[in-house]
Amino acid sequence: MGALILRHDWSATPIGTMDQWPPSLRTTLGILLHSAFPMFLFWGPELTCFYNDAFRPSLGIEGKHPAIGKRGKEVWADIWEFICPLINQIMTTGAPVYFEDQLVPFYRNGRMEDIYWTFSYSPVYNDEGNINGVFVTCTETTAHVVDRKKIEDIVALRTRELEEAHEALVHSNNYLQQLINLSREPMQVLTPVFENNRIVDFRYKLTNQAYANYAHATPEALHDHKVSEVFPSYFETSSFINVAKTFETGKDDNWEIHYNADGRDLYNEMNAVKLENEVVVHFTDFTRLKHLQLELLHKIKELERSNEQLEEFAHVASHDLKEPIRKVQFFITRLKKELEPKLNDSEKELFTRIESANVRMGKLVDDLLTYSQLRTPPDQKEAVDLESLLRQILDDLALEVLDKNATVQLVDLPVVHGYRGQLQQLFQNLLSNALKYTNPGQPVAIDVSCSKQQDNGVEYYQVQVKDNGIGFEQEYADKIFQLFTRLHGKHEYAGTGIGLSIVKKVVENHHGKVWAESKPGEGSVFTVLLPVVGEKEEVKSQK
Ligand code: ADP
Repeated sequence: MGALILRHDWSATPIGTMDQWPPSLRTTLGILLHSAFPMFLFWGPELTCFYNDAFRPSLGIEGKHPAIGKRGKEVWADIWEFICPLINQIMTTGAPVYFEDQLVPFYRNGRMEDIYWTFSYSPVYNDEGNINGVFVTCTETTAHVVDRKKIEDIVALRTRELEEAHEALVHSNNYLQQLINLSREPMQVLTPVFENNRIVDFRYKLTNQAYANYAHATPEALHDHKVSEVFPSYFETSSFINVAKTFETGKDDNWEIHYNADGRDLYNEMNAVKLENEVVVHFTDFTRLKHLQLELLHKIKELERSNEQLEEFAHVASHDLKEPIRKVQFFITRLKKELEPKLNDSEKELFTRIESANVRMGKLVDDLLTYSQLRTPPDQKEAVDLESLLRQILDDLALEVLDKNATVQLVDLPVVHGYRGQLQQLFQNLLSNALKYTNPGQPVAIDVSCSKQQDNGVEYYQVQVKDNGIGFEQEYADKIFQLFTRLHGKHEYAGTGIGLSIVKKVVENHHGKVWAESKPGEGSVFTVLLPVVGEKEEVKSQK
């Protein structure tokens, strides 16, 4: 650059030929030309330009170079608006300025380029001590700024991506939380807390609102807390023990718990499943149901007690009533005999009605006594041949059979294990009902048959007594087994309403079942299930 300065025709410039240059300019140029750091000098009234070799590359291939000896305004026309005020400021105030990575776009390499500079403008004094130039040290930082911008862009991009990923995670977490909050079943995801390689507690990783309600909290408030902080007594319960076992063995577990601690009284059906390094625990709270069940059991017990008392009373009452009824019958018979010659027809009729009412009362008392005696079954069951038992009953009912011109069929009746007397009462009642509730004017047909049936894994003899009588509405099928329930009037069909209660009681004493199916006018079927107890009771009866 020194050569260029030497060759330049300075006579046409305001600073004149080199021999006229003041020492201050010469010294400044000396420093500038010998420096390896890019430097530029504006000198004199027209801000004549000087620069060194280090500055040269910044002017590009096609551009301002050579600019030695040219006027500042001419060389830097494209950025004059920016640098002119700076130069003026330094020329007038003498205060230097410093810029770092300042964008100063100018024309070089055949086009306008965005160029970044770190530079300082300082005053240069002439020999008289006045400011006569501006000394510029500068370095182009375009590459550095571009690199930094690239890094900043990458960082910004990555930050945005991270923020987006974080947002997506927060969103999906919220979604998951909302989803599990929809479940009414309390749910917890627990991570174990270890001490010396042993599980000593669990932490809530995730819970739903249904669970948090039990802790009087929210899922967010429970997060990361130890379970023992909420339920300090859970260590002694299967709530901790079984969950720890599931974590250790990896095996799913289901169990019931009565959590009666920490101010809670809960009955829960628990379920624990290991999932990676956590245990998912959910449960169904059946506390309300359990309380109802306990209440029901209590009521049943009370009912049983009062039933027992009632049966006891019925037993005592019916037993004690037998004697007075017999006496009434005895005295009526005597009275009637003595008064017979003096009685007119209507008085005789009154006597007959007293007698029949007394007979009915006697029957009622007998039935009640029979029923109340069923409370205490005899000690020993025995093999009872149902066919011969039923034939004997039919012998006793021979009059009714004859009267109704009934056909009775007995098919495949087995030998069962039971209380003979009670079974006799059972079938006696069913057969006498079948003979009683008949359709007038229609031949009576009664079928008694047996087959084997499975019910809830238990094998039963299923004995069915089928008639073609008047039947009844199916809706009363359960009711008729209740004490004193009668569907038909006493004037058409005599009875006490105790027979089917006896049937039911006998069946219960044999751990069996009984039910009825019927339709008005189409007959009825009474089905009795009696458990098959052993080989000995196999079907013996061949009709
Ligand atoms: P009772 O025969 O003494 O009235 P039960 O307890 O034996 O008492 O029967 C209760 C009621 O069930 C009867 O009053 C009758 O209305 C009805 N019932 C029982 N067996 C039959 C049957 N085979 N056909 C129609 N109705 C019946």
